[in-house]
Formats: sequence, structure tokens, C-alpha cells
Amino acid sequence: MAHILDERQKQVSIAGANERTIDCNKASLAGSVSQRACVFCGSRVVLYPITDALHLIHGPIGCAAYTWDIRGSLSSGPELHRLSFSTDLQERDVIFGGEKKLLESASELIDKHTPKAAFLYSTCIVGVIGDDVERVCRQLEKEKGIPVIAVQAPGFQGSKKDGYKVACEAIFKLVGTKNKPYTPAKSINILGDFNLAGELWILLEYYKKMGVHVNATITGDGRVDDICNAHNAALNVVQCSGSMNYLAKLMKDEYNIPSMRVSYFGIEDMSDALYDVARFFKDDDMMEKARQLVKEEFTKLIPQLAWYKERLTGKKAAIYVGGAFKAISLVKALRLIGVQTVIVGSQTGTTEDYELIKQLCDEGTIIVDDSNPVELSHFVKEKQADIFIGGVKERPIAHKIGLGFCDHNHERKEPLAGYEGMINFAKEIYATAMSPVWKFTK
Ligand code: SF4
Repeated sequence: MAHILDERQKQVSIAGANERTIDCNKASLAGSVSQRACVFCGSRVVLYPITDALHLIHGPIGCAAYTWDIRGSLSSGPELHRLSFSTDLQERDVIFGGEKKLLESASELIDKHTPKAAFLYSTCIVGVIGDDVERVCRQLEKEKGIPVIAVQAPGFQGSKKDGYKVACEAIFKLVGTKNKPYTPAKSINILGDFNLAGELWILLEYYKKMGVHVNATITGDGRVDDICNAHNAALNVVQCSGSMNYLAKLMKDEYNIPSMRVSYFGIEDMSDALYDVARFFKDDDMMEKARQLVKEEFTKLIPQLAWYKERLTGKKAAIYVGGAFKAISLVKALRLIGVQTVIVGSQTGTTEDYELIKQLCDEGTIIVDDSNPVELSHFVKEKQADIFIGGVKERPIAHKIGLGFCDHNHERKEPLAGYEGMINFAKEIYATAMSPVWKFTK
């Protein structure tokens, strides 16, 4: 594989061809043009869906523009999260310091929008000039009487994954600061669902049918007060483990709240997520309701999926997503509709994730950690994939090569989680892979 840089060879593996453990969880190779985003972006995407908080980006306007309305996270109430505020640092601020500008901007915005909390993000240049954002936050907290949290996320300090950790630390500052009058005993927090295209609302419906109370959603359709009361839940149910495992760990250490890792993509993993929660509460009635729900959904879904499977069998897919746990669900979901996965990669997978992927995939599947456009383009051509499933940065790769693309990331407009999501996923894969337009591309 001549197109893989020497230093990256160990981050690529072939299922069935070697027993080598994939090298992962490391900084991106300088100059490799990693698909990963910066620390600031990582923190911003996690905190973004907290709908009633103010998000002020302390840096040049580009950082704010880059992440403006970055997720399709829907809100059932406030929409303050969709506005992107920036201190728009200029040369003069870089030379003389931007603290005063930050203080004045945040103060004015808090007065104008009366948020429940404010997040002030440090970007690369703030890390260089050394503005004391923590001090500004302390002063504003005193003056305004709301939590004002510094998100220390200069982009150059690592990768998007480090940004997730910074975001978890910021959220954790809110947890445990308020108690609601009553939190039911059988209550969970949903961590790592970002309510893209309203997916969270589908899940809430399932849990409601099972008799599970959802205490806080972190961060999809998130509310500051719910997060403050998150320490009163009995269990943290963690999806997108890459971004939220750390928060679950912090809550376990401080409040002894156990957590479980789930995925809501594909019908097997979706069902396991519901059963695992019922099993945790050791509640027969809850388990019976979960079984009933799964049975009803399967009865509707299986004939529909069979239709797609008949038509899609033989098609090949490439997957490159942020978290490896999602990639695992996607491999299973694609198999269910007859599509073979020939490439699977992620930005933030762990050794365990990649081992699971290796066991799950067919022989010859390329497994890759922290890839780049050159590698991905070569892999896709080599394996003759028919469809690419990824995020915003993978879309141009697919379209330049001339193959179908399915957005399974921030910007998607169709819910792909849950049982409804599985049908939407099948529909989208079918419409994209079978489109006649691909006959006209080279
Ligand atoms: S790398 Fe630095 S300058 Fe670029 S978006 Fe991230 S924080 Fe802003």
C-alpha cells in the first residue's frame, strides 16, 4: 500500500490477513492531512446542542464561522445554541490582549439573551497570547449570577478527541449544582446523543413506553437545569462513547453513577440498548414492555428490509466516521440490507473497538484509524465501493471519485437512529447506491 505514509502503516489493518493490533489513540501524523478536526471544534460540537446556553467563541471570526450551526441538533424549546457569537479578535487585540473585549462582549450578550449558563471558548490564538479566560468567567459569574464556564480549547493542543474531553470537563462543572424537587428512581441520563434530525425524540418515546424516566439529555436538546440535576439519575446510558465516556467516568468517580455503552443504530443494537436498560433496573415489567416494543417494531420492519436486501445485495460500502462504536453498528445494519462493508475506519477508535470490527468484518476488509483523503480515495477505488458513509469532510472525497455518499454525521436531515432510522437508512442507501447518475461518472 504505497499510498500510506510509512509512519501510518501500523494504523491500517486487513481483516483476516494479519493478527496485528491496530495502532490508534495517538496524535495525528504531522502533514498527513488528518480528517480529524481541532480541539476547539471537538469541544464545540459536544457543547453546541445545549440550547439555553450562550456560546461565545473568543478568537478570530474564522473559528466561529467554521463551527457556526455545525450540527443539525434540533431543540424542542430555546434556540440560542444556533447563534454563533465571536469576539472577532483582530491584530490589535492579539498585541494588547483580548480580555477586555471578551468581558464586554460576554456581559452584553448575557444581558441581551439571559441564558441559563455561558460557555466561553478559547481558540488557538488565545492559547498563544494567554488571555486569562478563567478570570473573566469568575468575574462574570459574580456579576451575572449564572454559571460562566471557560472552555479551554486552543485548537493546536491536540485533536477533536481532546476537545471532547475539554467539553466533558465543562459539562461536569454544571453537574451536581442543582437538585430538582423530585427525580424518579428508575431514571437515566442519555449521554452522547445530539438530537440530529430529532433522533433523540424517537429514543425518548421508546424509553417512555418502557417506563424509564429520562432525567437529562447530554447534550442533544440539552437544558442547563437538567444537566445541573444529572447527578440524581440512576444510570448513564452512553452513546458516541468517544465523546462522552469521559463524562460518564467523571460522574462515576464523583457520584457513583454506573454507565453502559449503547448504540441506537441498526435494529440489533437498538434492541440491545433497550434490553440492557431493563436488565439494569432488574424490572420484569420493564423488560416485558421492551420485548413488546421490539416485537412490534420488528413485525413492521423485517418485510420492508427484505425488499431492500433483495435489491442491494452485492453492493459494497466504505465507512469512515468519528466514533468506532457507530462504525460497528453500521457494519451490522448494512449486512441486514445485503450490503458488504469493504472499508471501515474512524477518527477516534480504541484498540478494543478495532478488535471488535476485525472480528465482525469479512476477510479482506480494510480497517483504518485516523485516515486522510489520499488513503481513503485509494482504498475506495481499490475495493470498488459503491457507496461511502461518512461525515461532512468525507462527502467531497466520495463525490470527486464519483460514488454515492450517505451523511451519517452532524448535518444529516433524516433521523437514522432507532427503528424508524433503520428504514430511513435503508431508503437512503438504496436511493444513493442505485441512482442512475453514477452511470455518467468516470
Ligand atoms: S485550529 Fe485553531 S484557528 Fe483553526 S478553528 Fe481550531 S481553534 Fe480556530
